[in-house]
Amino acid sequence: MSLSPKGYVMRCILQEGPINRAAIAKRTSLSIPSVMTITDDLISRGLVQAVGKGESRGGKRPELLSVVPESEYYIGVDIGRGSVRLVILNLSRNVVYGTKEDTGEVHPEEAFADRLCALILRSIEESGVDTAKLVGIGIAMPGLIEQETGHVLFSPDFDWNDIPLQSWLQRKLPYPVLVENANRALALAESDDTQSTGKQAGNSALCVNIGHGIGAALVQDGRLYYGSSGTSGEIGHITVSKDGPLCACGNSGCLEAMASGDAIAQQARDAVRSGIPTALRTLCEHSLENINAKMVFDAAAVGDMVALSIVDKATDYIGIGLAMAINILDPDRIVLCGGLTKNGPAFFDRVVKSTSKRQMRQAGRHVTISVGKKGDYGTAIGAALIIPYNGWRVPALQHLY
Ligand SMILES: [Zn+2]
Repeated sequence: MSLSPKGYVMRCILQEGPINRAAIAKRTSLSIPSVMTITDDLISRGLVQAVGKGESRGGKRPELLSVVPESEYYIGVDIGRGSVRLVILNLSRNVVYGTKEDTGEVHPEEAFADRLCALILRSIEESGVDTAKLVGIGIAMPGLIEQETGHVLFSPDFDWNDIPLQSWLQRKLPYPVLVENANRALALAESDDTQSTGKQAGNSALCVNIGHGIGAALVQDGRLYYGSSGTSGEIGHITVSKDGPLCACGNSGCLEAMASGDAIAQQARDAVRSGIPTALRTLCEHSLENINAKMVFDAAAVGDMVALSIVDKATDYIGIGLAMAINILDPDRIVLCGGLTKNGPAFFDRVVKSTSKRQMRQAGRHVTISVGKKGDYGTAIGAALIIPYNGWRVPALQHLY
């Protein structure tokens, strides 16, 4: 779905304001009279305001326009395995409220949805935001989500199958609710601040989330790419080793089964169990359950050969996955997110080295690889952004689409 001229103008002011009308016209390829009509309408709706005068180039000093930050609010909820994070963003994408609580029991599913509603309503009250300006609520969770209905088709993390989460929440909340896949939400958050505003400009970012599992989402020209059946981005389930271990998806040798945080921890447990000498045995205090990916990176950092070998292999496989993505998609940017990126250069430098070794020499010449900047609340922020990015589905925003 492309934006309307009004949507482009709004996005341009949002991302580049304070900005004058002539500059908006240039950035959006619209005529100055069109920009004037649109900005007058946005001002009359209270979404945009004049904030002073810019530099003159001979004539009258042009009026500078900016959005009115408190004219709209969006709620974002990130339902994670361990915790539920909630943020409220204003129109300028600033977090005006944030909270976190333990995810707790997710069965029965409808009881969990009720708890979620209670958290959302409590947060709205605590935040003190003007409820008349609350436009919608975005919910992000891991798993396959049907975009049209917000049904959770399958979430292995939660052991949920065909759960009508969006309808349940919508019945109980007086604001539009949209449910989206967590990786897609995160990709929106990580690509939001650098998106292009012009109609012609291309800007693609592949956001790869490497934590317990591995997932990805592609944002192209400010829109999420879904694919034909809405399942694009399953980079964690490309086969990288045909005889590799069984994966949660039912296939074997998937990237996720070879190189995710859970896979790294599992390989370390197997090594300790085999009796091979390694510092991991004392680090985990002889309890295999204590082993996690961070512990393996810590052991590798002090030269433990077993840990080093696991880290080298996993990061090499991640490089193979990223090189495939570069060869196929040739994106402008790859943004790495998730728990494994917290291991700093020990993770990042290895992955970049492996990627550049594996990608086709002539492919992806312009791609940059970086680590996401939004931190632990990135997915919640992205969940809130689902509302303006899917504005054509939200009654209060339809005039922009
Ligand atoms: Zn798999």
